[in-house]
Amino acid sequence: MQITINGNRMEAKEGQTVLQAALASGVYIPHLCYHEKVGAAGKCRACVVEIEGMRGLQTSCSVMVKEGMVVKSQTETALQAQRLVIDLMLSTGKHDCLACEQNGHCELQDAAYFLGIERPSILYADIDRELDTTSEFVHVDRNKCISCGRCVAACNGTVVNQVIDFGMRGHSTEIVFNTNKKMGDSTCVQCGECSQICPVGALIDKNSIGKGRIWELDKVSSVCPYCGVGCKLELFVDRKTNKIVKIEGAEDGPTNDGMLCIKGRYGYDFVGHPDRLKTPLIKENGQFREATWDEAIDLVVSKFSAVKEKYGPDSIMALSSAKVTNEENYTFQKLIRTGFQTNNVDHCARL
Ligand code: SF4
Ligand code: SF4
Ligand code: SF4
Repeated sequence: MQITINGNRMEAKEGQTVLQAALASGVYIPHLCYHEKVGAAGKCRACVVEIEGMRGLQTSCSVMVKEGMVVKSQTETALQAQRLVIDLMLSTGKHDCLACEQNGHCELQDAAYFLGIERPSILYADIDRELDTTSEFVHVDRNKCISCGRCVAACNGTVVNQVIDFGMRGHSTEIVFNTNKKMGDSTCVQCGECSQICPVGALIDKNSIGKGRIWELDKVSSVCPYCGVGCKLELFVDRKTNKIVKIEGAEDGPTNDGMLCIKGRYGYDFVGHPDRLKTPLIKENGQFREATWDEAIDLVVSKFSAVKEKYGPDSIMALSSAKVTNEENYTFQKLIRTGFQTNNVDHCARL
């Protein structure tokens, strides 16, 4: 269908909200509670617009497009309301951007920049909220939380771990874990979905702090090496040290939709670990020595051949891995069936 946004006619699809249609056409409307994965929230009210034929301001994240709709997101009335919302968000927290890990990748900062807000006009961040550093992987700073509710929706509705909710009320509203436990003492499984979806610096991956902001790092697409689900990853790599600083789930990952488990998101220290094996080792007289691949493969072939010759092919069995690709598993079973001449081949995913 055709709609008009700020005087420009553009395409929109049945089932889209005004905000989705605007964003798909490259028109930015400030928004903080909305995320494509958690849907229309209608909570933060930063995305208000005027729509011809509708009274007052409308939250563009919750109004569906209609053929011929005329939307104005940049009238003085709409901009004034958007500014007030962002101004209040900045006012109610402690937003010291220079020291914030999210600086340059913060959706509140983007909205403030778009609306020309240099500093909050009212300062009433009178609640000093204690940092929660009890979790192994997520750093919680409620002073930067804007109560957008994305983490609540993600933890409960997307990954369905049901740990986070809003607690306290009114001016004291804040996110809580279970019955207001420390994150590290709660039933949180450290999947990091809340950290990935938080638009500001309130939930941050702990191990990445101080190692470079996301926009300073190279983004490399990869696939998680841990299990057969094959979650798509975005690795953020510091080229100067050649180290992975952070991992996010790729939002376009066909099997994971941006989600990861604790292993895929935070278990990457093995990649650059000094104990990691990079060359084959052969044990001689109780001691390992480094060997070439040819030497190691020749040794393994000779040992297996001797066993097969002495005891027959069915004296050998082989167990394959969920951590390798389908193609590698196919090749492996082929090797065992045709090379080793036994059907004793299985896969660790059947444990
Ligand atoms: S959360 Fe955003 S606005 Fe707040 S201090 Fe961090 S970068 Fe600045
Ligand atoms: S890390 Fe995962 S389980 Fe824990 S609070 Fe965040 S979304 Fe919920
Ligand atoms: S912690 Fe982040 S995602 Fe959760 S409510 Fe606060 S700002 Fe929103």
